[in-house]
Amino acid sequence: MIRRSALLALPCAAFLLSACSSLPSAEAAASPADAVLLGRLFDARAGAVIDHGVVVIAGERVRCAGARDTCTWDATTPQHDYGDALLLPGLIDLHVHARPHYIGAFVPSGVTTIRDAGNTLDTLARLRTTSGAPRLFATGPLLDGPVSALTPQGPAPFDAATLGGQPAITLASPADADTVIDALAEAGVDWIKLYEQLSPEVFDAALQAAARHDLPVMTDLGTMLTRGLTGAQVDARQAAASGVVTLEHLGGAALAYERMGGDPNAETLDPALLDRIVADLAQSGVAVVPTTGNGAQFSAPDSLPRDDLPGAALMATDFAGYWSHLSRVLGDPEVQALTRSDQRLMRALLPRLLSAGVRVGAGSDLPAAPYMLPGPALHQELDALVRTGLTPAQALQAATHVAADILGQPDLGRLEAGARADVLVVAGDPLADIRATRRIEAVWTDGTRVDLAAAWHTVEDALDAARAEAQAQAEAEVEADSTDEG
Ligand SMILES: [Zn+2]
Repeated sequence: MIRRSALLALPCAAFLLSACSSLPSAEAAASPADAVLLGRLFDARAGAVIDHGVVVIAGERVRCAGARDTCTWDATTPQHDYGDALLLPGLIDLHVHARPHYIGAFVPSGVTTIRDAGNTLDTLARLRTTSGAPRLFATGPLLDGPVSALTPQGPAPFDAATLGGQPAITLASPADADTVIDALAEAGVDWIKLYEQLSPEVFDAALQAAARHDLPVMTDLGTMLTRGLTGAQVDARQAAASGVVTLEHLGGAALAYERMGGDPNAETLDPALLDRIVADLAQSGVAVVPTTGNGAQFSAPDSLPRDDLPGAALMATDFAGYWSHLSRVLGDPEVQALTRSDQRLMRALLPRLLSAGVRVGAGSDLPAAPYMLPGPALHQELDALVRTGLTPAQALQAATHVAADILGQPDLGRLEAGARADVLVVAGDPLADIRATRRIEAVWTDGTRVDLAAAWHTVEDALDAARAEAQAQAEAEVEADSTDEG
């Protein structure tokens, strides 16, 4: 079947330059495509479904996508007819803490791109070379003040010799900010992450240093459950005004509310104060990665269903011990009161932020919360976003088009000519029931169809190896103890 190509007539204006420059030339367009995917299609930019959709793939990129009568392909091109299933851009999780033993769980869960929000450089190097890993953007070590919840054994100042193994680094002065961010830029990080307890002048110096290296900045300023009201010095309005790109967990909002004279723990929040925070954030252009599911699970563990997640049967037992430990901690009445306050503020702010045009991106913060599975947890976050007031289409945009925009990667998160051919195919209609994203029929990354069974086998092997390593380590410790006693 040959149809008149609409490809060359596509306007580039709406598409950012890097993607336009990758559009195939007329000659390339004349060569056969590699695959044609038929199904319903989620137009991530519009947040709407095209009933008779197509994605034409050539090499690692989408050559043409949209309504079927707008694309052409050669009759010899292999066709994959997914019927009524929905074709979506591969999902993006904007907040994870990845580890080698579960890095393989993202792609078969439909999550083809992640932003790692805190890791050692050594672990990142391993993750980047693990086959089956998703596309990875990463911050490397967290940067915090000399008093930090991350370093209970004492501050960890910058040390070039041990930089690769440091999970967090102390910034005690503006000069520290320059030294450390120069070194992280040199080491190849994609983002800088500023944590809760930095002083305002060091926070600003870090933003300036990051800007010199063109590195975007994300920040976790703390919630009421963490140090947001007791340790943080910078609040959400200040951070947004300083030019951070994303506010994680809506951190710093409680402190901003308190500094404006409100009580963020009150049962009823003051709409005028909420609106002032929202107006300031909207004006700054900052984006928010609320990690809504994470907060929901902290306030009511196991409130987000997980049994139907991809890989749930395979992975859940590995995290059961950690989850029950977390649940015990969260059972403390004082902790429960704080998580409820955090949830109240989140539910009040998130719909207002959306209405004000603030970009909201999807992030799971796995494996921080109980009963969220590393890899597939983004599906729980989509569920949580909808429970917090987003429409299913907005939630899907938060994990595709908007997430790519926040990452500054215009060829991700959308199925359009020139985009990376990352495609998630799901049965059912996630616009009617967001949990349909879990019913995965196929995943394509960079134009290649993923063997889902093989991918899950790889995860199983990695979990087995990690379990054996932990067991051997525990036995070695028992041995060492008994030798000491002997
Ligand atoms: Zn995190």
